[in-house]
Order: sequence, then C-alpha cells, then structure tokens
Amino acid sequence: MAATDAGQAVIAGHFGFAAGVKASQRQVPLWSLMLATAWLDVVFVPLYASGVETIESAPDAAPGYGAAIIHADYTHSLLGAIVLSAIFGAVFAWFWGQRTGIVLGLVSFSHWVLDLIVHRPDLPLLPPAIADSPRLGFGLWRLPTASMVIELAIVLFGSFLYWRAARETSAAAGVIHSTRADIAGAVVVVSGVVVLFFDYTGLLG
Ligand SMILES: [Zn+2]
Repeated sequence: MAATDAGQAVIAGHFGFAAGVKASQRQVPLWSLMLATAWLDVVFVPLYASGVETIESAPDAAPGYGAAIIHADYTHSLLGAIVLSAIFGAVFAWFWGQRTGIVLGLVSFSHWVLDLIVHRPDLPLLPPAIADSPRLGFGLWRLPTASMVIELAIVLFGSFLYWRAARETSAAAGVIHSTRADIAGAVVVVSGVVVLFFDYTGLLG
C-alpha cells in the first residue's frame, strides 16, 4: 500500500523483492521490476483519490506503520490482482517477449502475496460487486516491529542478491573495479532502508 494519512506501506519490502528477482532475471530492466512490484498500488492511487477504494485506521493499533485496514476491493482482491498482473505481464510480453512478460506478471502478483502476509483480513477473493467472498490477511502488521524486521530483511537480502549479480555482470564484462555495481547496489539498499525508516517512524506521514 502506498503511504497515506491512515496507513503505511510495505513498499520497501516490495522493492527489495524486485531487486532480488533482478539477480536471477537479468534480462529484465530493474525499473520494470520495480513498477511491477508496485503495480497494484499504482492502480490503487486513482481509485483511492476518487473514493472507490479507501483506507481506515485499524481499531487495534496506534496510527502509524502497519495500522491500516485497506478497502482496496478491486485492485487487491485476489481476482483483481490476477487480472491486473495478467494485463501488466501481457503488455510487457508484447514488447519484450513472453519470458519477460511472465516474470513481470508474476512479480506484479507477488505484491498481493506480500500484502496477504501483512494485511489484516481485508483482501477479498472477489470484488464485492461480483460476489461476497471471505477476506484474507494474516495480519502480521498487528506486530509492527516484527513486520518491520521482516521487511528490512527482504530489503537487505534482495539488495545483496542484486549487488552480487551486478558485480558478476561487470566481472563478466571484464571490468576489474566494479565501482558501478557497488554504487548500484548501494543505491538500492540505501533507498530501501530510507523508505522503510520513514514508513516505520512515520516521520514523513
Ligand atoms: Zn498494496
């Protein structure tokens, strides 16, 4: 979820995951993986702005990191996430080939899986306009510190995989001093940690 007055995001965790995927899918540009991982939230923004999807504070938590109940019944229903991810993957498959399209579609859907772990049960299977369905969410956000530590672990591990792959790529290209790879890895880890820091502390919220 995007950071808002009422709730915060696992956006750093999503980006950390994307960086880790880059390590094994090197033909896929990093920016497209980052976009894929945030795609459901990108579509959420106009729906939130128009009041179709909403966020409220969880009654069991102080406002801040992980304190949101998110009524994103279209973008974050299981069916909605599958459809949006399929569209996203299909568009990129058209330009960059089937393999890359499938990777990007799966990374887009990974957003829903990560959200499923942290959200309180607010993720329906189907949009309510189609049918009533159970709402899912394992609610790790009820333990904000544990959530933050796990999110941080994803950021650090994903950045590490990314950095190691970038070094291998520059070594394969005959570059002895892999400064660029080190800088790229540093940018990924620092931006992930900074985003998570502001998210967790709410200093920008
Ligand atoms: Zn989300």
